[in-house]
Amino acid sequence: MMKVRYAAWMLIGLNAVAAAAPTEADYAAEVRRVRAQLGEGFTVIESRPFVVAGDEAAARVRARAERTVQWAVRHLKDSYFEKDPEHIITIYLFCNAASYRKHVKELFGDEPDTPYGYYSPSRRALVMNIATGGGTLVHEMVHPFMAANFPKCPAWFNEGLASLYEQSAERDGRIVGLTNWRLHGLQKTIRAGELGSFRDLAATDDHGFYKMDRGSNYAQARYLCYWLQEHGKLHTFYHQFVAAAADDPSGYKTLVKVVEADNFAGFEKQWQRWVLTLRFGGM
Ligand SMILES: [Zn+2]
Repeated sequence: MMKVRYAAWMLIGLNAVAAAAPTEADYAAEVRRVRAQLGEGFTVIESRPFVVAGDEAAARVRARAERTVQWAVRHLKDSYFEKDPEHIITIYLFCNAASYRKHVKELFGDEPDTPYGYYSPSRRALVMNIATGGGTLVHEMVHPFMAANFPKCPAWFNEGLASLYEQSAERDGRIVGLTNWRLHGLQKTIRAGELGSFRDLAATDDHGFYKMDRGSNYAQARYLCYWLQEHGKLHTFYHQFVAAAADDPSGYKTLVKVVEADNFAGFEKQWQRWVLTLRFGGM
């Protein structure tokens, strides 16, 4: 999910071409700015390329910066992203729903349309109700990295990859996504015979992906990424997609190539059957 849904992160990507990487002094200045902005009761620390601020106990904020933020930064960079975001982005970890709503209103004048958190490229802020768990945090962290490394990445893959890591773990030293709450709705849509094709998904622009979604876009993109991951093809897909994006901006041709199916329509059916075999929680 992104608060400023389209255009803004693309603009950041374009504007950032000539920007120099933030310096030591820039980080120190951002920490001071955020401390002054938030006042008492907050811990504000560098967690490069981010700054992390939170109103849980100081030790807890530090642990989140290390165990979630730094863990995800290291793994996302290992697997995908060469460049850091061009600007320092501050991650606000509010301790509960009340703090989240109050501070989002005070700091940004926003009424969040999600209880979990969001990324606002224009405010260079990633804002979380951290009581809902670290999953959304890792999801939102993918977006500024994607903007810095693949600014023209279409929404379907940007959200598919981000969603994949909202339930994540480490396997053989790499970050992996696990099945999560998005599975059930996707399985229902598949059983009802209502899921669109990957061609249609890849053809969506931002408006089509975010605004015209009948409820399955995120899940379809996520479980396509999950399939690619489980078949050892996700990193390959990302890197080939980036390399071929001028010729194949939607990624569809690259997807067909990387999947290596004799018959892509057959693959889609097979993928749907595979999704129906997956399990999450007590389902
Ligand atoms: Zn998102």
